[in-house]
Order: sequence, then structure tokens, then C-alpha cells
Amino acid sequence: MNLSHLVGIQLFLYAVLWALCARILVTERRAVLHYLAYAFSAGVAILFISWRPEGPAWWTHTFSSIVNMVSLVCARRGAEVFLQTRPRDTEHVLTVVLGSAVFAWIGPDDTSARVALGAGLAGAILLGAVSSCWRPLRREFGLRFTLMAAVPLAAMLFINLELGLSAWRGQVVPVEGSGMPQAITWTVTLVSAAVFNFLFLFLLGLRMHHNLHRLATQDPLTGLLNRRGMQAVLQKEWMRGKRYGDPLAVISLDVDHFKRVNDQHGHDAGDRVLIAVAEVLKSHARASDQVARMGGEEFLVLMPSAHAETDGVALAARLREAVNRTVVLADATVRIPVTVSWGVSGILPQDVSQEDVLRRADEALYQGKRSGRDRVVLFGLHDITPGSGAGGADASHAPGRRGDAAQ
Ligand code: GH3
Ligand code: MG
Ligand code: MG
Repeated sequence: MNLSHLVGIQLFLYAVLWALCARILVTERRAVLHYLAYAFSAGVAILFISWRPEGPAWWTHTFSSIVNMVSLVCARRGAEVFLQTRPRDTEHVLTVVLGSAVFAWIGPDDTSARVALGAGLAGAILLGAVSSCWRPLRREFGLRFTLMAAVPLAAMLFINLELGLSAWRGQVVPVEGSGMPQAITWTVTLVSAAVFNFLFLFLLGLRMHHNLHRLATQDPLTGLLNRRGMQAVLQKEWMRGKRYGDPLAVISLDVDHFKRVNDQHGHDAGDRVLIAVAEVLKSHARASDQVARMGGEEFLVLMPSAHAETDGVALAARLREAVNRTVVLADATVRIPVTVSWGVSGILPQDVSQEDVLRRADEALYQGKRSGRDRVVLFGLHDITPGSGAGGADASHAPGRRGDAAQ
């Protein structure tokens, strides 16, 4: 057994691995089936060309060249499917059909032309893979993994360039020999196949991990962070604020009389109100702010490096105006009035955990509910709703002094 047999067997093992993955990874099955086809056909091509010690026959050579070309097209199309970029099917079909026709047309004795063509086609498919996959790969997984994927491609390009140029000059390196050129070719093929297969297996795992994380931390209705996601962010920002003495503002908000919306207009209309409020929050928050739906009709805006008394209050006032302007229709003619109560608070030196900031923002919010709803209240100070006429420290709104029950 020589190195080429080992590479063929290795590719069959990858095919088994992808077959197992195809059984369990339902959402990525299409891409995985392409990788399975690639690994299996590449294994067939390699074992076919290297199984006869006295040298492959004309038909063996032609068959394995065509199968090898198909395997590379499958790998490229698999990567395109995986990266959700539009597969270049016209290019793939033309490559396979025209490539096979030229392979069949080349005479039985012209081994060097066949090797040069095989190497040229392989090079073209690999370059095509770089052109269609570089951007989506970089967008989803970053530059590091994109460069990692480029390494086996570059190595295979180099080997095919070398093979193609030698064949062009009439020097065909026999695949089954045990000399230095064969050792280099098969070692590079073995390592490149390993990097390609393991890397894409890893990227599948990474994507699943990201999806699971998103499911665990994102609210499906509004696309905002959910309570769990926000708690993780809040804890991190609170600790950073404590350590470096950075300010931190939090706005807690709750849609007013939301139960009535559901009762009068139905649950779907209620959902549309929640989506509309979420859109307002998203479109007005800065890129560094974090917005979450904490549950039901309660939301939270977290503003890192922002002062509650100035930035927090100003944003809450702008958000209030934007929500009040928002049009949500119950049906073609009936508009649902939407107002929200806002409580603002910031980090304090005596805080022992991030829960303290949250609790104060909630207290300010409920103070706003008690004083008539549709209010912006800064914890510990006063109702500072723009245009409300309220101002200055107002003892009746001071935290800790609970007024009448909410209306
Ligand atoms: P307040 O002004 O005091 O906040 O009164 P409210 O009616 O807004 O508050 P309450 O807590 O009485 O009612 C909240 C309602 O929100 C009750 C619940 O059925 C509804 N709700 C919770 N989650 C959802 C959701 O995802 N969609 C819809 N449509 N309604 C929801
Ligand atoms: Mg409410
Ligand atoms: Mg509520």
C-alpha cells in the first residue's frame, strides 16, 4: 500500500463522517450531502488511478480525471450551499459537461494533455471556489477562518499548477510511483483534505453553537435580546462601570394598559404593538446601546458609558415622543393608541450588583405608572416628562413612597 491508497481511504472515512452528519444535522443536510459526494467521489478517483501498480489504463485515467473534477465541483457547491450564497450552477454544469467532453476527446495515448487538462480544470474550480465563498465566509466566520480555508485551497492550487506545467512540458509524473514528487503530491493532498474536512465540520459546529446561543438569548417576536441575554450584557457592563468608574444608564419601560389592547383588539394586534415599540427602541438607540424585551410588554434599554440624568433622560424623552407618534392599526381604520411608562436610573457607588440598577429603574417606572402613565421618571428625582409641567424634586414621586395602586 502506498501513500495514494492512504489518501483514498482517508477520503472514504470522511465520506462516512459526512453520512453520519447528514443523519443528524437536518438544517445543514444539503451542504453535508455535497461534502459526502465530494469525499466519496474524490476517494473513488484516487483509488481508481492508483490501484494498478503497472500504471493506469487510458479509460482508468480518463474516468478518474472526470470523477475528480466532479468531486471538486461538489466540494465547491457544498461550500456555496453552506454559506447560503447562490450556487453558480451554470458554471458547474458547463465545467463538468465541457470538461468531460474534452477528456473523452483527448486520444488514448496523450497522457500529458489529459493531466494538463485535469490540473487546469482543478485549478479553475478552486479559484472559482475562492471567488464565490471568500466574502460570505469572511462575513459569517471572520478573517481567521477564511484564511484557514484558503490554505488547503492554495496548497491544492500549487500542486495542480506544478502538475499542469510539468505535463504541458511533456513530463508526466506517474501517480503510483514512490519518488519525491509523488510523496509531495500525496502528502499535500492528504493534509489539504484533512484541513478542508475538519475545518468545515468545525464551522458547522460553530454555526450550530451561534444558533443555539441566539435561540437562548433572543426574543423570537421582536428579535431583541431576551431577559437572559440582557442579564448577561448588563452584568458585564455593570462590572466594567464599577471597575473603571464609568457611568451606566438603564431605561425600564412598560406598555400602558396593554391588557386592554389584547382584550379589545385581539392578541395579534397586541403582538403588532410590541413589534412597533421594539422597532422604535431599535431605531433610536445608539449602536453601543442594548435593547431587550424582558418579558410580556416590558422592555429595557441599557446605555453603557452614559449618564442617567442627562443621556438616559434625553433618550427616554425621545423614545416617548416616537412611541406616541407610532401608528399601529387594529384594522383598516381603527388606530390603537400606544403609550409607555419610562423609568430611568444609573449606577451608584453603593450598588452591590446589577440588580440594584434594575430595581431602581423599575421603581421609577412604577412611580410613573402611579402618576398617570405615559411618564418619564428619573429615579430619586422627579417626573421629568417633557411638557408635563412637572419639575423639581417632588416628594410625592420620591421612590419608596408608594402612592395609590396602579390604575
Ligand atoms: P399597566 O399599564 O399597569 O402596565 O397595565 P397592563 O395592562 O399593560 O399590564 P398587565 O400586566 O395587566 O397586562 C399585561 C398583558 O400583556 C397581559 C398579557 O396577556 C399580555 N401579554 C404578555 N405577553 C404577551 C405577548 O407576547 N403578546 C401579547 N399580545 N400579549 C402579551
Ligand atoms: Mg403594561
Ligand atoms: Mg407589565
